[in-house]
Amino acid sequence: MGNSVKRYPKKRLGQNFLVDDSVVEDIIRIANLDENETILEIGPGKGILTYALAERVKRVIALELDKDLCGFLKDHLANFSNVEIIHTDAITFDYRGLQEKFRVISNLPYYISVPIMVKLLEKREIIPEMLLMLQKEVANRITSRPGIKDYGSISVFVQYLSNVEIVLNVTKESFRPIPGVDSAVVRITPLSRPLVEVMNEDLFFRIVRYAFALRRKTLRNSLKAINIPPDRLKDAFRIAEIDPSRRGETLSLQEFANLSNAIV
Ligand code: SAM
Repeated sequence: MGNSVKRYPKKRLGQNFLVDDSVVEDIIRIANLDENETILEIGPGKGILTYALAERVKRVIALELDKDLCGFLKDHLANFSNVEIIHTDAITFDYRGLQEKFRVISNLPYYISVPIMVKLLEKREIIPEMLLMLQKEVANRITSRPGIKDYGSISVFVQYLSNVEIVLNVTKESFRPIPGVDSAVVRITPLSRPLVEVMNEDLFFRIVRYAFALRRKTLRNSLKAINIPPDRLKDAFRIAEIDPSRRGETLSLQEFANLSNAIV
C-alpha cells in the first residue's frame, strides 16, 4: 500500500480488518465451497478472505469502495486469474448485471450492513445463500423470535424471505483495529416463496413498521396512525383472532400476515 498505509484504517468505511486465520478457516469450512462456483465478496479489505476463496473456487468477484485498497488487492492477488476486484459501492452496484448465480461470503462494513442485506435479499433469485459477518447485535436482531427484545421489523423482513441462523461467533479481538462490538457470521438462505402468505406486502410491512415503531404501546394504539378506518381495524383484529391489547413485539410472522390479510 506504499505511502497510503498511513491512511489506514479508514473509520468512515468501517475498516476493521480480520486478522485471525482460524476465523477464516472456520468460514471456509462452514461455506463448504464448490470448486465450480462463483463467490461474491463485499468489502474485501486487505483480502484475507478473498485469498482463501480464490484458492478454492472458480471465480471470485470482490466489490470494494476504497480505491487505494483496490490497487493493493490487484497487486496482492495478481497470481489469481479467477479474481475480479471491482471498485464500486455495494449499495448501488448492479448485481443482476453479473448475469449468473453466486453465493455471497463477506465480512460486511458494519455501518451499512443492514441496507446491503436488504439489497441482497431483494436480488434473492440470483443468490442461493449468503454467509455474512455482522456485528453481533445485528445478527441477534435478524435471528430473533417474537417476545424477545431484539425482535423487530428487520427480523420480520429477513425471516419473511429467508432462513437465517448464526453459524459462528467471533470476538472483537479477531479484528484490527479492535472494534467496540463482537461479531457473528450468519447463514441466510433465501426461500423460494415467502414464509407466510401475504396478500398485500406494502400493507404487511407498513403494519410491521408501525407495530414496532412504538414498541411499548398496544397494537390498538400503535396502529392508530396507520390510516385505516377504526372499524375496519377492529374487525381485522377479530377476524385474525389477535387481541388488540397485545404489543406488536409479541406477534409472529403468521399473525402479522393474518392481521394484514384481514384488512385487505
Ligand atoms: N473483508 C475484509 C476483512 O475481513 O478483513 C475487510 C472487512 S471491513 C469490516 C469492510 C470493508 O468494506 C472495508 O474494506 C471497506 O473499505 C469496505 N467498504 C466500506 N463501504 C463499502 C461499500 N459501500 N461498498 C463496498 N465496500 C465497502
